[in-house]
Amino acid sequence: MLIAGNWKLNTTLDASVRLAKAVADAVDGSECDVLVCPPFVSIDAVSNALLGTSVHVGAQNVSATDEGAFTGEVSAPMLRAVGCSHVIVGHSERRALFGETDQIVATKTARALAASVTPIVCVGETLEERRADRVSDVVEGQLAGALGDLSADQIGKVVVAYEPVWAIGTGETASPEQAQEVHALIRAWLSKRASNASDIPILYGGSMKPGNAAGLLAQPDIDGGLIGGASLKAADFAAIVAAADEAE
Ligand code: PEP
Repeated sequence: MLIAGNWKLNTTLDASVRLAKAVADAVDGSECDVLVCPPFVSIDAVSNALLGTSVHVGAQNVSATDEGAFTGEVSAPMLRAVGCSHVIVGHSERRALFGETDQIVATKTARALAASVTPIVCVGETLEERRADRVSDVVEGQLAGALGDLSADQIGKVVVAYEPVWAIGTGETASPEQAQEVHALIRAWLSKRASNASDIPILYGGSMKPGNAAGLLAQPDIDGGLIGGASLKAADFAAIVAAADEAE
């Protein structure tokens, strides 16, 4: 199981380091892979604060280019150099608020892989798309858009996160059955393109919290969680990690 915290636009430098240390203390002894994704400016300090612990550090975004005149961008090799093992790519907030297309998500995914940073590729439908019965079209379209040009070997190195947009930051959660249905569809898509599809982690994200984590993580195709709001409190995040340990 992989439990990843997406801190979004929260925590200044000191608060990031405090939260990272509190998480490391609270999840000590867990069998899970635990990851925290602070804001860019805190990554280096958090990475240092987590040395000697089992918690990994990742980023929330990456540039689609590696170097050059791209003001304000942060590249995959830069992330790797400050200790990032993972990077979130194509989060719905970036797609909706910053105009990230499937093509941009695909390029970022490839850049991350080339720098040996594992991309966590986010897919998921809006409420409107779910009501129009378009979940499989949308999710398969996003998978094809992000991963379609990669080799089987490259696809085997990604993490996928199913994040229904209507469940992110809303307090609404997909039921375990709703989530499992889409995770199975994602697994089937991966199975046609990678030989190790059963080992590719597929995370659920969308208002996962201590009270609902166990039910979601018990599903056969849910291999962990991408956690927003509940990752900002070490005790809540650790409770989700404990639920993942139980589900292993
Ligand atoms: C997210 O933004 O990836 C997320 C899952 O947020 P939340 O847990 O707050 O819904």
